Amino acid sequence: MKKELKACRNCRRITTEDICPYCGGETTDEWHGYVFILVKEKSRIAAEMGADNGEFALRVR
Ligand SMILES: [Zn+2]
Repeated sequence: MKKELKACRNCRRITTEDICPYCGGETTDEWHGYVFILVKEKSRIAAEMGADNGEFALRVR
C-alpha cells in the first residue's frame, strides 16, 4: 500500500506520519508545492522559510 505524503502544519516538513517526526507537530495531506532543499546556504527559498535541508511543502492548509 502506498503511503500518502503529508506535510507538517508547524515546520512544513514532508512526511508520511500523522505526527511530524521532526517537531512533533500535526501533519495534513492538504498541502501544495513541493520544495527539496539540498544546500540551504544556496537556497533563497530556504532562507525565506527559515528551513533546513530536506523536503518541505510550500503551502500547508
Ligand atoms: Zn514539523
